[in-house]
Amino acid sequence: MLVAATLVAAVTAQSPQAEIAYRFHYANAGDTSVAIEIAWGSPLAEPRSLVMPRAIPMGYGEQRYDAFVTEVRAFATDGRSTSLEREEGPRWKLSAGSTRVTYRVDLQRMEREVRAASDASRIRDGYLGVLGYSVFAFVDGYETRPARLRVQGPAGWPVFSTLAPSWPVTTTAVEARLADFYELADGQVVMGPRATIRRVADRPAPLYLAGYAEGPVDFDRVGRLAVSAFQRVADYFGTVPFAHYTVHQELLTALSPQHEYGMSMEHLGSSTYYLAATTGLTATSTADDDTRVLYNFAHHISHAWVPKRAYGHGYFPFQWELAPVLDSIWFAEGFGQYAAIMALAPGTPDPVAFREGMLNRRFRPNVANAPPFLKRLTLVDLSRIASTRYAEDFRTGRLVFSRGGLMAAAIDDRIRAESQGAKSLQDAFRFLVAWSARERRAFSNDELPGLIQQATGVDTAAVIAEWLQPLR
Ligand SMILES: [Zn+2]
Repeated sequence: MLVAATLVAAVTAQSPQAEIAYRFHYANAGDTSVAIEIAWGSPLAEPRSLVMPRAIPMGYGEQRYDAFVTEVRAFATDGRSTSLEREEGPRWKLSAGSTRVTYRVDLQRMEREVRAASDASRIRDGYLGVLGYSVFAFVDGYETRPARLRVQGPAGWPVFSTLAPSWPVTTTAVEARLADFYELADGQVVMGPRATIRRVADRPAPLYLAGYAEGPVDFDRVGRLAVSAFQRVADYFGTVPFAHYTVHQELLTALSPQHEYGMSMEHLGSSTYYLAATTGLTATSTADDDTRVLYNFAHHISHAWVPKRAYGHGYFPFQWELAPVLDSIWFAEGFGQYAAIMALAPGTPDPVAFREGMLNRRFRPNVANAPPFLKRLTLVDLSRIASTRYAEDFRTGRLVFSRGGLMAAAIDDRIRAESQGAKSLQDAFRFLVAWSARERRAFSNDELPGLIQQATGVDTAAVIAEWLQPLR
């Protein structure tokens, strides 16, 4: 089988795939845009497209980040440069022979025009906070290649990347190595003299707090809650499948009455909380405020396991140009939140009452009060609809996570009852995270009962099937 052997040799020689070098440069305090460079080493053998993301992982909607990209130029090996023609969609045409591209992203205009604060990057006086997917493009077909990132700020500015936190914080360039474009795009850059960067815990993994506030806030208190949420969620899942984690919180003066603050977003190794300036935790905050913030942190931190590392179809690999249609948001959002509730429960005076209280607060009213036309949908149909308007019409998002959360609770009850308390949904979560790391793929909705049974010995297929049905 000489042919096959040669083929294997050729494939081996090509791997590992050539690294893509990204450079992020914010040159001067006061600039309203950042400069990005992407270099891929060998000249393109044929024309390809440069693509800016429009879909946000777990954003369940789209933002036209390509609208803020300017001065796009491509370079050939001999140094000659050409400006690029737009193609349909968020694309530019790269010709054969090009080896790198440069462009700028206007962050001032992005913050003005993207009204959901959690989807926008921003530059404010003495501060820059950037979401990777809002500034980094990719060469079509190169998304799976490893990437290297170099981040530089104005002279003397502290520079921090959630992808490679340096401690103590440095004022020189930061470098990170990433497995692929997803990992690069799902990180954040924070810099500036008005940023607060702290390392708040060493175990079970280094935990960082990156903060910026235009209103009163007690970052000590925020940090303590972040540590508590992180440690409890890590205990619940039993493993920490990443090297470090960052909680990034901004407290912002509203740019206009139309701008929306208060949504949070999860990422592979971080979570982002872009809130109104007046809503920070302070010395006068109540115990209820602490509980609310602790749960919000636990919720978004638990997404680093579910669904970022145990997921249904469409989450990975991710489709960047159009929001993917997803069949399992109820798992990602409902089961993820249920995990957060169960992670926090042991730290409360009465874990059973805490769980019941959270189901009553977070899920049951949303199901009871949903419009009938949404109740009549199967959970898969509702998930497909919420795929593109989860937050935009939050009736869809709220109902899909609530039905999923109640399904998780019902499955947990069934597992505990049938195993006489020996097993719980926690065992299934741990199994699913290990299974996904090993299999490196999504599971289908049809596979879920079998996987839960492998983990716990309990057949929950009927519970799952019932909760997937339209509500009566
Ligand atoms: Zn969530």
